[in-house]
Amino acid sequence: MNYYDGKMLEFARKRQVDRIKFMENLGRSVLPQQIKRIQQNDKMVMKDLVLPDWLDWDLLYEWSMRRRVVDNPRECILCNEKAELGVDFNMKFVCEGCFFRIKGM
Ligand SMILES: [Zn+2]
Repeated sequence: MNYYDGKMLEFARKRQVDRIKFMENLGRSVLPQQIKRIQQNDKMVMKDLVLPDWLDWDLLYEWSMRRRVVDNPRECILCNEKAELGVDFNMKFVCEGCFFRIKGM
């Protein structure tokens, strides 16, 4: 098991739901450029982010590696905006904002 999954399991076991929620929502407060810096192991980015002290670098790094950042923004099929972060649904691109909107329904 990787570190990220291990940590999430630990949070679940300790019923630290707020921590799990924080990790799930982290993508909304971290800019794509900052995610790239995390992926490049640039720890200076920590200064630009407001993170709780339980969130260590390894967890942040593995979190960032789970996010696909594409260099060429693609057009979202729902809002027609160009976005860097998002997911593919049946070969079609849905931006992160729309994805969370759908998920929240
Ligand atoms: Zn969209």
